[in-house]
Amino acid sequence: MQGVGFRPFVYGLATRLGLAGVVGNDERGVFIEVEGGSAPVEEFLAALTGDPPPLAVIERISTAPAPVTGRGTFVIAPSAAGGDRHALVSPDVATCDACVRDLSDPADRRCGYAFTNCTGCGPRFTIVRDVPYDRATTTMAGFRMCADCAREYHDPGDRRFHAQPVCCPACGPLLRFVGPEGPGDPLARAVRLLREGGVLAVKGLGGYHLAALAADEPAVAALRSRKHREDKPFAVMTGDLAAARRLCVVDPAEERLLTGPARPVVLLRRLDDLLVAPSVAPGNRWLGVLLPYTPLHHLLLRGVGEPIVLTSGNVSDEPIAYRDDDALERLGGIADAFLTHDRPIHIRTDDSVVRVFRGRDLPIRRSRGYVPHPLPLAVAAARPVLACGAELKHTFCLVKGDRAFVSHHIGDLENYETLRSFTEGVEHFRRLFDITPEIVAHDLHPDYLSTKWALDQDADLVGVQHHHAHIASCLADNGVDCTVAGPVAGVAFDGLGYGADGTLWGGEFLVADLTGFERAGHLAPVPMPGGVTAIRQPWRMAAAYLDLAYDGDVPEDLDVVRRNAGQWAAVVALARRGVNSPLTSSMGRLFDAVAAVAGVRDAITYEGQAAVEFEQLADPGVDDAYPCRLVETGAGFTVPGAELVRAVADDLRAGVPRDVVAARFHNAVARVVADGCALIRTACGLSTVALSGGVFQNLLLLGRAVTLLEERGFTVLTHHRVPPNDGGVSLGQAAVAAAMAANSPISGVRRELSQARHTWLGGMSATGT
Ligand SMILES: [Zn+2]
Ligand SMILES: [Zn+2]
Ligand SMILES: [Zn+2]
Repeated sequence: MQGVGFRPFVYGLATRLGLAGVVGNDERGVFIEVEGGSAPVEEFLAALTGDPPPLAVIERISTAPAPVTGRGTFVIAPSAAGGDRHALVSPDVATCDACVRDLSDPADRRCGYAFTNCTGCGPRFTIVRDVPYDRATTTMAGFRMCADCAREYHDPGDRRFHAQPVCCPACGPLLRFVGPEGPGDPLARAVRLLREGGVLAVKGLGGYHLAALAADEPAVAALRSRKHREDKPFAVMTGDLAAARRLCVVDPAEERLLTGPARPVVLLRRLDDLLVAPSVAPGNRWLGVLLPYTPLHHLLLRGVGEPIVLTSGNVSDEPIAYRDDDALERLGGIADAFLTHDRPIHIRTDDSVVRVFRGRDLPIRRSRGYVPHPLPLAVAAARPVLACGAELKHTFCLVKGDRAFVSHHIGDLENYETLRSFTEGVEHFRRLFDITPEIVAHDLHPDYLSTKWALDQDADLVGVQHHHAHIASCLADNGVDCTVAGPVAGVAFDGLGYGADGTLWGGEFLVADLTGFERAGHLAPVPMPGGVTAIRQPWRMAAAYLDLAYDGDVPEDLDVVRRNAGQWAAVVALARRGVNSPLTSSMGRLFDAVAAVAGVRDAITYEGQAAVEFEQLADPGVDDAYPCRLVETGAGFTVPGAELVRAVADDLRAGVPRDVVAARFHNAVARVVADGCALIRTACGLSTVALSGGVFQNLLLLGRAVTLLEERGFTVLTHHRVPPNDGGVSLGQAAVAAAMAANSPISGVRRELSQARHTWLGGMSATGT
């Protein structure tokens, strides 16, 4: 059992049925002994599974007879230190309806109190310092409960029974306003500042946010320029669901997410409206929306009376600020004032971001509200595993048995501060869940900070190829046990990952299970002129691809050539000579190239921007596609991406509208996915496909690919619990390491790689390592 409020629920149930006994936690989860007549015991068991509290997740229940003790009452056993190390650390939970009612009830002593919470809601993961989970090991330790709160805390019949962060205005944290002098309490001053067009820094659950009125263009524009965030969309918080519906289309699955206990940012289709300032999400058909998830947010939104932008409190790509002194210093140049408080945040946790695909969650970022809830592994780890993740959108993952604890979003692991977040995070998780890793899994990229750190650890090491990890992540996400189901066709499309042959992969067709893979097919490699510069300047990829597509004779009337005429020849020469131009088979780079050719943009300000905007350009009503061959090489197949770029360029020169061109390209890539999987099926007979990698955050491509695959009789696995992007890589690495350790104990082997196997594809004789 995972979740909150379970023991009081059991207590209430047993007491109501007149049963004696005990409920408690140990390292396996919750244990219950009930004693009484057989009818009430049966009823008790039925209610346990039939009507559990909303936040409890019951993995399984096992029962066994026990000797009669003659107990007269039902009790809740105190937590033994160390005995319930992971049973009680739950994710942070959005303020429940009952607490929201308290907030606005003039007769309640918590009316208007910004830190109201109960057993069913409130901060958890972000305030936990250590185990066992008890007030003394949280950042609430410094607040001594008043008599009223203590009474609620100790009363099993009370909504706040054993709610560790329970507090009230008399004993709990208090708001503070740091900013221009003026009348009123901190909240009133903050509301006034926002209403007057100011930028406000607000301390939230997992860090500071920056806020401004969403409809106020000068305020949002000021926030954008001070934050040095040029184009990346901001999220908007609305007071309630009705307000969200005024901005966006909300379907039932999206409504469930918006109003659920995790309260992520949900990416919604925007209505054609003028209610949100242009600078909030420039040129974007989607808008990230979230509803209030703390009492402070509820009070703030109620005071302001209209939607606000709520974006992470940081400059550019730095990690979000969460310590008060650091926030005041780093955000001082952005915010006109601070609405802060004296309850420390122990661990920085960003807002989660989710899209809905065919009625199910498609996580883009899994963090607050989800972490540290463990994910079940189909193949349990015989020895504890730490998976160090990738680099961008970094997460790590610790595994004990069949439970995988994927970390919160750490950020891009490119500097000292994020590296420290990673290593401190690992320490924190180790303590919380009592896991001492014996196997450390890592990416193969020698320059990733996570790889370098892993290689320094005194443990058995397992190197996992990046795209194998993506596919393994999708398998683990779906609970697939390959030892039963056999290998799958894995399509891993992303920006870049280190290949088993030392080149940069990213448009990969693998045959894979958890312990190994073969590279069945891939995009034909092209040079990336200027290396990483080509990531920031997609027009360089256009130059490399067009040079191949037109065999060195690129039409000069193409807009992308004209726009970049000054550097075009030099960049082409770089690509041709292979100077500082590593080869890549990346699908992300192909999208970049086509987006630049189509005039979407030549340079980007955030990762994946060109592809994101190119997706939005596409007319979803267009069904035809550019033809694309798969070239069988005798060692698998390649996809000649240059032919697609040529088709795009020819259409544009012929005056075909850009939205049609974008759609035809998306449809062509979807067909490539289906054709490639069909080839693999012919070679080795499998019929399940796993789609992973950041490119599959593109809903147009994902939808078309899944449809085509299903039409051809494939079972298709997509992501629902961890992101398809590199945020999900750590789970994949962990699943691979666990499965390898189960297969052949890794003990004593200092370093082992997930193997490229040569058994599945047979006649296709695919390439591997
Ligand atoms: Zn509550
Ligand atoms: Zn109190
Ligand atoms: Zn990746």
